[in-house]
Amino acid sequence: MFDTIIVGAGPTGMTAAIYASRRMMKALVISKNIGGQVIWASDIKNYPGIEFIGGVDLINKMRQQVKDLGVDIKIDEIRKISKNSDKSFLVEAGKNSYLTKTVIIAMGLEPKQLNLDKENELTGKGISYCANCDGPLFKGKNVAVAGGGNAALDAAEVMSKIASKVYLIYRKSQLKAFESLILAVKNKNNVEMILSSEIREIIGDEKLKKLKIVSNISQEIRELDVDGLFVEIGHEPKTDLVADLVERDTLGQVIVDLSGKTSCDGVFAAGDVIQSEFKQIVIGCGQGAVAALSAYKYLQVGK
Ligand SMILES: Cc1cc2nc3c(=O)[nH]c(=O)nc-3n(C[C@H](O)[C@H](O)[C@H](O)COP(=O)(O)OP(=O)(O)OC[C@H]3O[C@@H](n4cnc5c(N)ncnc54)[C@H](O)[C@@H]3O)c2cc1C
Repeated sequence: MFDTIIVGAGPTGMTAAIYASRRMMKALVISKNIGGQVIWASDIKNYPGIEFIGGVDLINKMRQQVKDLGVDIKIDEIRKISKNSDKSFLVEAGKNSYLTKTVIIAMGLEPKQLNLDKENELTGKGISYCANCDGPLFKGKNVAVAGGGNAALDAAEVMSKIASKVYLIYRKSQLKAFESLILAVKNKNNVEMILSSEIREIIGDEKLKKLKIVSNISQEIRELDVDGLFVEIGHEPKTDLVADLVERDTLGQVIVDLSGKTSCDGVFAAGDVIQSEFKQIVIGCGQGAVAALSAYKYLQVGK
């Protein structure tokens, strides 16, 4: 029986683990990966005390700190969390299940998908959600970027230096990124902007071969030969697995009070997954600390 199980090893979960261990709680972190979104952040310049650090370096420091404090991190996907009649929780991950007195949900956000056929099948076989991570795999190739915000424009800019040709495909007529970024991408002679257009079909068997795109104005269909597609259309919480456990808002964000308490006694939440306007590393770390201290208090006084 654990005192707390922390779902997610992003900065929020890592901080919760640090605080739980310093309160001598028997804690376990279970996460699909180490680092969450931070591994996609190539230059972090707003983490207090550190002028500049890459996301991977920052998360490695947090991981080492968690390890040194004696908290295990298991790499697995949590599929179900249920409350037992004795108020403990059963956490099911892969083939294993764990009992815990409290749960800290630090599941963060996941990249939004286009929800097209073959998208999951060809993820990692041409389709990627991170140009900064996977960009170098497409050196000298033709790629497309889906999206029209800062992340998409940034991906197009990064890929213009690596790929031979970059198509930027956006469903609206106006991009919604910083002007400077739009200008930088417009000035690249190997980037073709295809606005007011959507990807209709992903084509390829073993790997991505083509994209069928349709103009939202003329309905004209065009096929693009591409080896890579970067889907950069934002992030969203994927919290269906806790839908029966805690109250969520219409976006799927977990609703908490100022102590990180959810609608279910013994379950706390923090970081990007909660209903909050601002989502940043330092905010998640602060909320992760609050959630762990609240879980400790709950164990001491029963609520
Ligand atoms: C490209 C990019 C650049 C950024 N740059 C900055 C920056 O410079 N400065 C800044 O402050 N912020 C930045 N951010 C935002 C910052 O990364 C997030 O605010 C922060 O990572 C949130 O931390 P988190 O731990 O709450 O969630 P996440 O980082 O999303 O981590 C959630 C973790 O939960 C795991 N998880 C989810 N579901 C399950 C499940 N069912 N079972 C097991 N594990 C699960 C995930 O695998 C992941 O490890 C950036 C984000 C992006 C995408």
